[in-house]
Amino acid sequence: MNATAVLLINPKTPFNVGSVIRACSIFGVPWLRWTGTRVTKAQRSCAGSAKPRLPREERLKDYLGVDWRVDEHALDDFIAEGLTPVCVEVREAAEMLDEFVHPPRAVYIFGPEDGSVPKGVLTVCHRFVRIRTANRTPLNLAAAVNVVLHDRYCKGGGLMRWRLRRRRDIPYPYRDGWTCHFCGDWRPDSMIGVVSRTRLLTRDVPVTENRRYCKDRRACEDAALLWREAKP
Ligand SMILES: [Zn+2]
Repeated sequence: MNATAVLLINPKTPFNVGSVIRACSIFGVPWLRWTGTRVTKAQRSCAGSAKPRLPREERLKDYLGVDWRVDEHALDDFIAEGLTPVCVEVREAAEMLDEFVHPPRAVYIFGPEDGSVPKGVLTVCHRFVRIRTANRTPLNLAAAVNVVLHDRYCKGGGLMRWRLRRRRDIPYPYRDGWTCHFCGDWRPDSMIGVVSRTRLLTRDVPVTENRRYCKDRRACEDAALLWREAKP
């Protein structure tokens, strides 16, 4: 089962925390926790609410899908739930994000804007990842969260679900294969054939269209041949 969480260590600005809530919502991450008192102190809670006030634009109802709060023990709880702690920090031994294979269940840990991840947290981290950049200027906290979550989303389940929903033609990065245009199933590369036909977009602008079909399924092959012969 996929499970993803984000943990911010003692973040400094409510604006960054708000932007991270938004990133979690956009990339389908259900849990956000942070530690420290700086965000809660700077923004007094609404009366009767345990949640700190965040900038207005970050409190839209669209972000209700994310369960966020301050929690000093969040890391222990996530580890107990079987999530792999992944520390996002510039360190010698860190793997580059673009080559990183995300654990199916992961909690991504980010240090504060004005410091680094404390030793106590580092010692429980199993994986270390860094973002490839043009120079040594660190990314803004919320920007780093966006980059990491987007990378996970593209490499993992998110894109696969999106593919199935839209039946679009983006290759799934961890497996070579395609969807058949006729039965809609995901098939390995070797079982997929392609038929093409050309039509005129306007009087003399030809466009080539392609359809993929299962080479080992008679029904898909027949449908593909019919499609090729049909007048568009
Ligand atoms: Zn098929």
